[in-house]
Amino acid sequence: MATRGEQFLDSLKDGRRVWLDGKQVDDLPGHPAFSGTLDTIRRLFDLLDDPNEQDWVGFEVPGKDKYVHSSFLVPHTPEDLARRSRAFAYWARETNGVMSRLSDYARSMVTGWYAARKRLGKLDSHFNEKITAFYHEARDRDLFLTTALLDPQINRSGDLDDRVIAERYLHTVKETREGIVVRGAKMIATSAPYTHDFLIFSFHRLPSGNSTHAHVLIVPANAPGLHIVCRESFADGRDRDHILSSRYDEMDAVLLFDDVFIPWERVLLHGDADAVWHLRSDRTANALAFHQTVVRFAVKLEFVAGVAFAVAEAIGVDGFLHIQEKLGELITQIDTIKALALAAESQARHDESGVLVPELSYLDTARSLGTRLYPRAIEILQQIGGSGFVQTPSTVDEFDGPISRLLQLYFEGASVGAEQKVKLFKLAWDLIGSPLGARHELYERFYAGDPVRSFANQYLYYDKTVLTGPVWKLLQKTGVTQH
Ligand SMILES: Cc1cc2nc3c(=O)[nH]c(=O)nc-3n(C[C@H](O)[C@H](O)[C@H](O)COP(=O)(O)OP(=O)(O)OC[C@H]3O[C@@H](n4cnc5c(N)ncnc54)[C@H](O)[C@@H]3O)c2cc1C
Repeated sequence: MATRGEQFLDSLKDGRRVWLDGKQVDDLPGHPAFSGTLDTIRRLFDLLDDPNEQDWVGFEVPGKDKYVHSSFLVPHTPEDLARRSRAFAYWARETNGVMSRLSDYARSMVTGWYAARKRLGKLDSHFNEKITAFYHEARDRDLFLTTALLDPQINRSGDLDDRVIAERYLHTVKETREGIVVRGAKMIATSAPYTHDFLIFSFHRLPSGNSTHAHVLIVPANAPGLHIVCRESFADGRDRDHILSSRYDEMDAVLLFDDVFIPWERVLLHGDADAVWHLRSDRTANALAFHQTVVRFAVKLEFVAGVAFAVAEAIGVDGFLHIQEKLGELITQIDTIKALALAAESQARHDESGVLVPELSYLDTARSLGTRLYPRAIEILQQIGGSGFVQTPSTVDEFDGPISRLLQLYFEGASVGAEQKVKLFKLAWDLIGSPLGARHELYERFYAGDPVRSFANQYLYYDKTVLTGPVWKLLQKTGVTQH
């Protein structure tokens, strides 16, 4: 019988239209651009059936005799939250923090909507039944999910009054008794080629009166008319030289909706921009999903620090004060993000449905800070290794070739042999200099939204009187009033 991971791979042969290098990819697991990444995901799925591992990543659904991923667990107790966190960290560690969209983010959002269904049910009388049905389906069928929230980057100075933009942003062109037909594009959807369903809604607030662009949809990847247009692949199957790119390239894609029919049961909200914004801002769903991003990010920082420490030791620079200062900075990064995750968990509060919701403000802070910490971590790694990252033969296989003796001599490190050092520096290069590495820096800068507006929002939504109050109070002592 096929394992759960193999069933996942089989399920991708469902008629989806994935475009890469101008061709439609019919066999995703067999294609070199996807095979390494999908093999990684297959192994992650299989963990849920491994008696030694399943409790780390999953929970047993009462009455089902089956473990499912803990991103589907609705947390009511601190133990539940800890179980969710443990699962996020486990999958992140299995992928060295380099795979960010293993579906546990989008699954958490669905879990959050389901958990908050009574409150969110006020937005639409059918919401409760639709999200309940989809939550159970996603959980019980191990559905891989991802999000696509942004509109295409055509002209950011325009808005929906611009006819070109209005036509190309995703909108309803037809409404029938069975559902709606949508046209337009959405970007970016990481993991799109191998997702089962997309969560589609608007990241930014729409004008209240806008009904044609207002929707929250769950769209199957094989919906007729949906085209998944991939960026170029960074995977080349050279897993000894490009250890990260060959295993962890989670593809990014743009979704083109060429008149896609969405049945009503998959239309969670429709035609009401304020209701869409309400759902998009829901504290429970956002906190559950953002929690995953912060736990995952801490693991990634640990990995970067691990590579940096190893590089410093390998070339004997770890004794220099300024290198130690930089390595110490990497530890402060890890501790900062971990502490924010812990603070969010320990300050979690029950919402009116009894769901234990991590404290969102700490998660927002971690996500905003991450946009600055990650590029700095990569900068530190560059400063430590210098030209060592390019002092490598084009392939480690050359250690078995005619000039092996010379390579062993001149590529040697301070604390490691030549082959080990070259492998380490190639790994580091994959993190800092390869197309995958560059994509990761871009990812950490932008995945949580435009960092400029994220920081600004923290200010805008902060209860500022808590901070300004004591200032005015102090000034009052000298006879100055606020107004
Ligand atoms: C590698 C990668 C993977 C991603 N994966 C996903 C995913 O899986 N799912 C998903 O939904 N999204 C994903 N995203 C998209 C991400 O959410 C967006 O990149 C982010 O929200 C910023 O939007 P944008 O890229 O359209 O930038 P833009 O909004 O186009 O911004 C570009 C620049 O213009 C400035 N700017 C633009 N408009 C304004 C304005 N109105 N006011 C002030 N400044 C402005 C910004 O500050 C920025 O400097 C991904 C992004 C990346 C880079």
